[in-house]
Formats: sequence, C-alpha cells, structure tokens
Amino acid sequence: MVTDQLQRRGIIQARVLEALGRIPREQFVDRGQERQAYEDRALAIECDQTISQPYIVGLMTQALDLAGDEKVLEIGTGSGYQTAILAELAARVVSIERHAELSRRASTLLAELGYLNVRLIVGDGSAGWPDEAPYDRIIVTAAASQTPEALFGQLREGGMLVIPIGDRDSQTLQAIHKIDGKPRATTLSGCRFVPLVGEFEPE
Ligand code: SAH
Repeated sequence: MVTDQLQRRGIIQARVLEALGRIPREQFVDRGQERQAYEDRALAIECDQTISQPYIVGLMTQALDLAGDEKVLEIGTGSGYQTAILAELAARVVSIERHAELSRRASTLLAELGYLNVRLIVGDGSAGWPDEAPYDRIIVTAAASQTPEALFGQLREGGMLVIPIGDRDSQTLQAIHKIDGKPRATTLSGCRFVPLVGEFEPE
C-alpha cells in the first residue's frame, strides 16, 4: 500500500509514510472486509459511512505538515483511522463525530492501540470545539458546501484547515491557511466524501 498507492502518487513525507505503514488499517474496517483493507479505495463502515481511501488520507495528512507538537481538531471521527494517524503525528487530537456508535467503536480501538493523546466527542462538528481552541490544524473528513466560520475562527493565526468543499457528488480538497486573520486557500485535488450533516451540508 505504501509503495504502490502512496509514494508513487506523491505522498513522500517520511513521517506520514511511517504512520500509514504502522497503523493496522484492517482493524478499522468492518468485519469481512479485512482483505480489502489495503486496497486503493474507500470502504463502508457502520452507520452508512466510509473510511477514506489510503491515498486521500495520505494526501490530507501530508498537507497538514505536522511536526509533532500541534493540537489538531478533526471533524468526522468515523472509524478512527485518520484519528490514529493524527495521534501518531501530533501532540493532541480532539475529534468530533455525530454518530455515537461510531465514536464508541473508535474509542475502544484507539484505546486498544494505546493512544492516550486523543479526545473523542459526540456532536455536530460544524460548530467545532471552542473549549480547546485555538487549534494549530483542523481537518474535516466530510464534504461541506463552504468552510464553517466557527472552524476558521478556532484556527490559530498561521494555522491550517484541510476540508473538502463542493457539492454532494464531487468536491475539491482545500488547504486553507490563516494569514493575518484571513483565509488563503490552495486546491489539493478532486475528491468525494460523505456529507458533513447540518448547516454546511452540500447540495
Ligand atoms: N476519517 C474517517 C472517515 C470519516 S467519514 C475515517 O478515517 O474513518 C465522515 C464522518 O463524518 C462520518 O463518520 C460521519 O458520521 C461524520 N459526520 C458527518 N457530519 C458530521 C457532523 N456535522 N459532525 C460530526 N461528524 C459528522
């Protein structure tokens, strides 16, 4: 997976490749899908949601450019796979998921794998989590019609938010830097995520 799907397509940051190589992706997919866990595609998880394709996880993680001392906010815990990668590469991770069932499963798995620097919250991530703001990085793993202003507000100056923006069927992955309090966006790639349910749900 690391050589064929990631390095060949431009995921080259050593720390990102190590984390992706170390975390047992098969434990995050549904039972019966273990054999597909390392294929280059998204897979179904509980509650009609998906675990993102390894390449997209690599691309988003590499874009976040984590040195190890950051506090990261993630919206859309899902299986907890991306959360585990962030826990490996940053100092602290706060992750919000609207489905309690998914959050509970992710919590069990992340504890089993020994991650102590993660806090999981059940709720609507569109509002972020002001209690621990500001964040050095924010990652949204569900598609939005536009950047939720609460999230941009909780980003520290000089920080970066990675989010898929677009409509229901297709989005572009955007890296949005906060510079002098204003957003500066770069497009990373096309993508397709499940919708961010709520106020910023895509049409
Ligand atoms: N990063 C995940 C993939 C997540 S799929 C992984 O690695 O497995 C997107 C997730 O976002 C789903 O679990 C979905 O339930 C969640 N989600 C959608 N809208 C949300 C919202 N408004 N607040 C919090 N979570 C939301």
